[in-house]
Amino acid sequence: MTRYAAPGTEGALVSYKPRYDHYIGGEYVPPARGQYFENPSPVNGQTFTEIARGTAEDVERALDAAHAAAPAWGRTSTTERAQILNKIADRMEANLEPLAVAESWENGKPVRETLAADIPLAIDHFRYFAGVVRAQEGSLSEIDDDTVAYHFHEPLGVVAQIIPWNFPILMATWKLAPALAAGNAVVLKPAEQTPASVHVWLDLVADLLPPGVVNIVNGFGAEAGKPLASSPRVAKVAFTGETTTGRLIMQYASENIKPVTLELGGKSPNIFFDDVWARDDAFRDKALEGFTMFALNQGEVCTCPSRALIQRGHYAEFLDAAVARTERIVPGHPLDTDTMIGAQASNDQLEKILSYLDIGRQEGAKVLTGGQRIEYDGELAGGYYVQPTIFEGDNRMRIFQEEIFGPVVSVTPFDDYDDALKIANDTLYGLGAGVWTRDMNTAYRAGRSIQAGRVWVNNYHAYPAHAAFGGYKQSGIGRENHRMMLDHYQQTKNLLVSYSPDKL
Ligand code: NAD
Repeated sequence: MTRYAAPGTEGALVSYKPRYDHYIGGEYVPPARGQYFENPSPVNGQTFTEIARGTAEDVERALDAAHAAAPAWGRTSTTERAQILNKIADRMEANLEPLAVAESWENGKPVRETLAADIPLAIDHFRYFAGVVRAQEGSLSEIDDDTVAYHFHEPLGVVAQIIPWNFPILMATWKLAPALAAGNAVVLKPAEQTPASVHVWLDLVADLLPPGVVNIVNGFGAEAGKPLASSPRVAKVAFTGETTTGRLIMQYASENIKPVTLELGGKSPNIFFDDVWARDDAFRDKALEGFTMFALNQGEVCTCPSRALIQRGHYAEFLDAAVARTERIVPGHPLDTDTMIGAQASNDQLEKILSYLDIGRQEGAKVLTGGQRIEYDGELAGGYYVQPTIFEGDNRMRIFQEEIFGPVVSVTPFDDYDDALKIANDTLYGLGAGVWTRDMNTAYRAGRSIQAGRVWVNNYHAYPAHAAFGGYKQSGIGRENHRMMLDHYQQTKNLLVSYSPDKL
């Protein structure tokens, strides 16, 4: 076991500035109204830095800088942009541990995950988009002997990006890498709960980017996010967050007829067919591991498999084993490499989860394990910790229908394939789903019939850069990851040329 030193203590790999301003036009700029807000760590509830509280004036200033930088950046060759993205990735790789500690300290997630997943995935994302943008080709249509239609990819110009707090650096990367690869300048607003990680990342790579290509305006949704998403000076709004906020973002952008991509909430089903239990072998074990994925990242994942559907034939045995497995999830200090579940990202989120633990009980759901806040003494006192919790109930309950965004799974049995599909699709959301079976025909049919943008078959929570990710139904519009993401950050220019000397 390794315990990384907490920021602010001896031996710490990360030292935060006492305050973070906005980053505009290649320099740190204080907020126009001079206001800052406190940024606490969920590990212990203590403020560790102050953050500029952005307003419409700051957004305008960032848009000025982005517009000044966009034309030259858009004209750089894809080779040049790819080299910069690759250098960003190299710099991050050389600083894996400080970035991982920063992400854990601000978000509360275990460092073993930020070391093994969040930061490596972010690095790979830059490399992936550095590669695919160079492989992108335009097209040519032969209209007739003398006439040709060329299709070129052009950047949109200046794009707005608004991100949530559950994977601060990774979410910033998912937005920035394709936008920059495609030749756009960006104004990005981090979540008010976790802005410092994005600045730690930025401080590491800022010198690699021309001034004004990436601008960060900190602040709250209504004060900084709304003017950004409402601005006629952005060519597109990319948003990740709650479905209710996504609805507002669409309204703002519609005023100026601007395109949006939205990555929103989920209530993902994880379906375990009877045949999983057919033999006591490694696959059974893998499926049980898949069940516990609801607690990954403290359940603060848009694709959290927060509804587990287990077929009746082996319901009791599966559930007993799943409860035992869940009870082996190691809670503790997020900076210990042995810790599997750390702190919830904010006090608000903690309160929300605790309120759903009450709602579940009031609705008559049975708590099979967990169900309580964890209150530590010492270093973790004042932090936001919750036990991994399994409820048993039915799909009509609020805990089966509403996004809790905590380490809470609601379990229900099903009779057969049709019953499973009916329960799985009985939700407003359609982001992720899991299907576990040894029968690949069942896997294929279920995978194709579940109304969700990503269905994991016999795995869960994998996020390779080259697999398209996004929501059906109220879980979003558009996709992230995969080279198709470049389409969301480019527009098509058609040049229709006549080479005929005389014919019109
Ligand atoms: P949120 O919607 O409250 O906030 C997200 C961002 O939007 C923040 O930066 C916030 O400041 C900003 N914002 C809030 N109100 C705004 C407004 N009126 N105008 C402009 N910006 C505004 O969401 P959250 O609580 O930070 O994040 C959790 C949610 O994100 C969950 O619902 C989760 O499912 C979703 N999420 C989705 C994905 C995905 O890829 N689909 C990934 C991660 C998180």
